[in-house]
Amino acid sequence: MSDFKKTALVTGGSRGIGAATAEALGNAGYCVTVNYLKSQGSAEALAGRIGGTAFKADVSDPSDAEALVKSSGGAGVLVLNAGISLVKQIQDTTPEDWRRLFSVNVDGAYNVIRAALPDMLREHWGRIIIISSMWGIRGASCEAAYSATKAALIGLSKALAKELGPSGITVNCLCPGVIDTDMNRALGEETLRSLAEDTPLMRLGKPEDVANAVLFLASDAASFITGQVISVDGGYAV
Ligand code: NAP
Repeated sequence: MSDFKKTALVTGGSRGIGAATAEALGNAGYCVTVNYLKSQGSAEALAGRIGGTAFKADVSDPSDAEALVKSSGGAGVLVLNAGISLVKQIQDTTPEDWRRLFSVNVDGAYNVIRAALPDMLREHWGRIIIISSMWGIRGASCEAAYSATKAALIGLSKALAKELGPSGITVNCLCPGVIDTDMNRALGEETLRSLAEDTPLMRLGKPEDVANAVLFLASDAASFITGQVISVDGGYAV
């Protein structure tokens, strides 16, 4: 495998799903750039463990996204994972809330993909893996803004799979279910227990469950898979 195929960039790699993904890729021999915004300590510690590099960038800022991609030296495997959530009824969701969710979750993916594409097009190879959510498929009550951003990412993945397939680039979308990370801590123990009970496999997901799916999609074994929306949710969205 060429160096390019073994170079990965994970946005929001400092915590949760992104951290588990960066760790799995690093342990599998990828040279990983671990993007962070606020969690410098954990990003640097993780990068140190896997022989990668930590880089601070706000993915919602196009120039930060360009600097991030530049710092990676060109990434063959791109994991668009950075994201924020919001639990609010739609009438309480302010225009600022709405814009903030879209700017991180959707603009962030667009900014980083756009910056990374010239290298992939030159190499005629790339793996773009976008982290959406089961709420992008099903919609979540009191999370309309979040659900809308995650549905947008599904549309982006499918369109890009068609546009970039002839250039040797696959684009797939993962839809995690309820994964045990900081993002869900505010939901409280009781809600998390009932979400686990509503999951056919009767447990919350672990960040590693999503990381394993990313590893597969990045591998040669997945070279004929593109444009897919793959649930990693213990059967929740079935
Ligand atoms: P998390 O534990 O809250 O971690 C979020 C990560 O995103 C952190 O590394 C954070 O970096 C980074 N981040 C946030 N805003 C950023 C920005 N503007 N620029 C760069 N990085 C930014 O979340 P998670 O649960 O691991 O979720 C990761 C992804 O999976 C998200 O897209 C989320 O929507 C999706 N997802 C999660 C679940 C779930 O149940 N947990 C389910 C479905 C989908 P810093 O800490 O360094 O600021």
